[in-house]
Amino acid sequence: MTDRNQTLFDRACRSIPGGVNSPVRAFRSVGGTPRFIERAQGPRVWDAEGKSYLDYVGSWGPAIAGHAHPVIVEAVREAALSGLSFGAPTEAEIEMAEAICARLPSVEMVRLVSSGTEATMTAIRLARGFTGRDAIVKFEGCYHGHADSLLVKAGSGLLTLGNPSSGGVPADFARHTIVLDFNDLDQVEEVFRARGDEIAAIIVEPVAGNMNLIKPRPGFLEGLREVCTKYGAVLIFDEVMTGFRVGPQGVQGVTGVTPDLTTLGKVIGGGMPVGAFGGRRDIMECIAPLGSVYQAGTLSGSPVAVAAGLASLKVLDEPGFYDHLAARTRRLVDGLQGAADAAGVRFSADALGGMFGVYFADTVPGSFAEVTTCDKEAFNRFFHAMLEAGHYFAPSAFEAGFVSIAHSEDDIDTTVAAAREVFVSMD
Ligand code: PMP
Repeated sequence: MTDRNQTLFDRACRSIPGGVNSPVRAFRSVGGTPRFIERAQGPRVWDAEGKSYLDYVGSWGPAIAGHAHPVIVEAVREAALSGLSFGAPTEAEIEMAEAICARLPSVEMVRLVSSGTEATMTAIRLARGFTGRDAIVKFEGCYHGHADSLLVKAGSGLLTLGNPSSGGVPADFARHTIVLDFNDLDQVEEVFRARGDEIAAIIVEPVAGNMNLIKPRPGFLEGLREVCTKYGAVLIFDEVMTGFRVGPQGVQGVTGVTPDLTTLGKVIGGGMPVGAFGGRRDIMECIAPLGSVYQAGTLSGSPVAVAAGLASLKVLDEPGFYDHLAARTRRLVDGLQGAADAAGVRFSADALGGMFGVYFADTVPGSFAEVTTCDKEAFNRFFHAMLEAGHYFAPSAFEAGFVSIAHSEDDIDTTVAAAREVFVSMD
């Protein structure tokens, strides 16, 4: 068999930096050759050699309904036939905005953009414009896209490459970003006591998914809410990953903690490039053309992307969707845990809705410091052995995993059975 993935990768590296259009795809942290994907259907992807994999990446979250869901594909086809982009408003955009506002009580108004990065970047600008303050608080290991002031001690690809801050970010920008430890409320209170009148916003992944999956400790999000209210700062929940993924109302629905602004992406685009930011009306009215905070996008609210998003939200509304999704995800992590325990491998796993984390450590980590002590070499061995067996996990020990509604119980059990053999071989 020719290794077409390798041939394509060699070719890609000649014209694309690192051979990829987004760093984690390059397999730098796990080593080896990225799989070039030719097609995907339901829970599976097929690579350039025709090998199929049960996919637990799901395009990094959007593929919650499974790949190429017929309802979503048909909506895209129909929209495309009516024109790809107009740069003028459409009724479908209103429907999409209404659909988001109806589902998330904290969102009174919403604007669509084309990526999660745009959503978070604009939410920060909006919070600064609204409060007239410059500083922001973020947490180490949380990733909020690649805007300058958010690329400070961030997670995801930066963490995977072992360098959590980016080159090219002026120190003058970074100094407005205060980085604290996720799940450490005392630090937050201390910083606000000292500098509360300078801080425009706290931005947080309310369940972190870019340093593997890390849940908030009880009281952490509630505490952030209290501090923001007390000091007049804007609380931004970055639900680009968790929105419509951990439950029908994201983490805010699960915890009952209400942010001032929410950023969305991934699932709301059904696989097409869509992001959104929304929240309190008085804050959202500061955005142009109503207010002074500027934001725009040639392809924002793309009719094709909006059609995919609307169709996707309809699929999520099917009765029992989230119960089934959570049950499948739970079946996976419980199965993996049982298999690791049986083989005597140090392993733990956690899940929320359709999102999961696997950790080569005795207990589920609760902080960035804890997650970085997980056995990365063990993860890499697991990753490659599973990939070889036809199970595609995220190519990094610091990324969360995703299950779709198209993963059947049989699919999950097949993955668990493969993991059982892999764990035994790792002992
Ligand atoms: N915020 C979070 C929580 C994310 O997980 C991501 C992407 N992984 C982003 C923002 C950035 O989104 P995008 O890649 O669409 O720019």
